[in-house]
Amino acid sequence: MTKWRAIYSTIIRALFTGVFFLTFSLQTQAQTPLELLAPLDIPLILSGNFGEFRGSHFHTGIDIKTQGKEGFPVLAAASGKVERIKVSPWGYGNTLYIKHSDGSSTVYAHLQRFDPQIQDWVRNRQYKGRVFSIDLTPTADFVFAAGDTIGWSGNSGSSGGPHLHFEVRDAQQHPVNPLHWDLPITDNRPPEVGKLKVIPIDVNGLEKREMDVDAKAGDTTLVKAGEVHLGVWSIDRLDGASNVCGVYSIDVKVDGEEYFRCTIDTLDFSVNKDMNAHVYYSTWKKGRKSVHRFNKLPGDRLPIYDFLSDNKLVIPVDSIMKVDVVCKDVHGNSRAKSYFLKGDLTPPKYVCKEGESSQIVNKIAETNSVTELRVGGVDVNIPKGSLYDKEHVYLEVYDSLEFAIGSWDVPLKKAISVSVKLPQDYRQENWVARSVDDKGGVSGAIVCKQQVGRLDFKTKNMGRYKMDRDTIPPRLLPKHSGTPVVKNGDLIFHVEDAVSGVEKIEATMDGEWILLRWNPKKKEAIYKASDSVHEKGSKVKIEVVARDAVGLESKWSGYVQMK
Ligand SMILES: [Zn+2]
Repeated sequence: MTKWRAIYSTIIRALFTGVFFLTFSLQTQAQTPLELLAPLDIPLILSGNFGEFRGSHFHTGIDIKTQGKEGFPVLAAASGKVERIKVSPWGYGNTLYIKHSDGSSTVYAHLQRFDPQIQDWVRNRQYKGRVFSIDLTPTADFVFAAGDTIGWSGNSGSSGGPHLHFEVRDAQQHPVNPLHWDLPITDNRPPEVGKLKVIPIDVNGLEKREMDVDAKAGDTTLVKAGEVHLGVWSIDRLDGASNVCGVYSIDVKVDGEEYFRCTIDTLDFSVNKDMNAHVYYSTWKKGRKSVHRFNKLPGDRLPIYDFLSDNKLVIPVDSIMKVDVVCKDVHGNSRAKSYFLKGDLTPPKYVCKEGESSQIVNKIAETNSVTELRVGGVDVNIPKGSLYDKEHVYLEVYDSLEFAIGSWDVPLKKAISVSVKLPQDYRQENWVARSVDDKGGVSGAIVCKQQVGRLDFKTKNMGRYKMDRDTIPPRLLPKHSGTPVVKNGDLIFHVEDAVSGVEKIEATMDGEWILLRWNPKKKEAIYKASDSVHEKGSKVKIEVVARDAVGLESKWSGYVQMK
């Protein structure tokens, strides 16, 4: 490159950077200046915070406790217009999304009910569309000022107890940490920081997770010399509740040099399941232990990493490695711990051998290629991009209908496909794949597709599976003996399904569709007398149909004296 060209390219680069920073600062300005009021007029005690681990994703809001009760007025945290209304028996349940003038929005979930005008609009849409679940942008203008009541707190959807889930999203719909706003929440407790997880790496660059070691703070721990990955157990609790929450940031130094830093400020729904890659999945899947890794797996796309060292961590034999960890919460409370690691000369054993027998096939799977495992009538296809890292994978077949896809502690980014050869005699049945735990217990049920003598299903979980038939239709009957009519005039049905789960429940009154509010947690479906579809005191014919996930149906019908 000539001198002039070098200067020219420096100028171009400087211009580019300038434009980038300008755009960036404009964007951040547009996202955050909004002021927020508390969405509940009770002391704000949290049972969950932003960024804590949940199932297979980060929690994207805060959970505010509601004293074990439902029915507290939920207030608009800022002025705005309702942009989305969702009703679902699952997930967030009854939810309102309010859009604010700066493009950001706030979300209020697990509500018991909405503001009466919204409630009416929703019921109309449900009757028009003949559906219980809706997810709509309202055609009417529901505009609220900050502090207005928009609904009442509840326990709807997959909520484990009465609370309000409150979320803040920026103009790009990315959830941001609500604790950055000045909400009246007291938090004087620093995070808890536990043992350091030391995971040996073998000569093939594979984690030997079955040989991991826990190092106690302050102690010098003997671990296999050589390359390792590290992580730390850390959680946070806030004042007034014993609930386990997540930490906000983690700083790691190795022998005094910065090694790792992450901050959970903004998340991204499109990659939120990569939490399975950030958490040490083995102890998370087995015992819900919150161990944060200090290494980013190659497939992890989370926007939480501030600093990642390029250096591999190698435990020395003749000296001691010092690991300093500082965990913080949003409110500035912090806790520091130090760990000392000394190398043990015996090298980690390399046990993974590619190969197969009549019952088992072992392979080393790369992230960027397809891996096929095939043995004993079972085919497993691990598509390109399903793994977060290079892994030793295997398929072990116990009998024609039970097998394990390993290792159970490999997190999956995309679903893998499984195809099982079907025994001749069972062609006409409905099949599901069920998970088998360590003690042989079965749970869950993935519905299988049946074609040319094979059963196909997709799963996002490695582990042991058993193919099972679902022959039992849902159980459907009036909740209280005899008649579905209860005191206040509502109709209540009990509905549940043992294997594949209830998928749909619908009812008609004298042949006309009526709305059943389905609550899977309580295993009940309710027609509300206040819908006023019936004439008071009339005798009507009620017909109810419940269907499970494999398509088996149960029916109930009867003449009912309405109140
Ligand atoms: Zn929540």
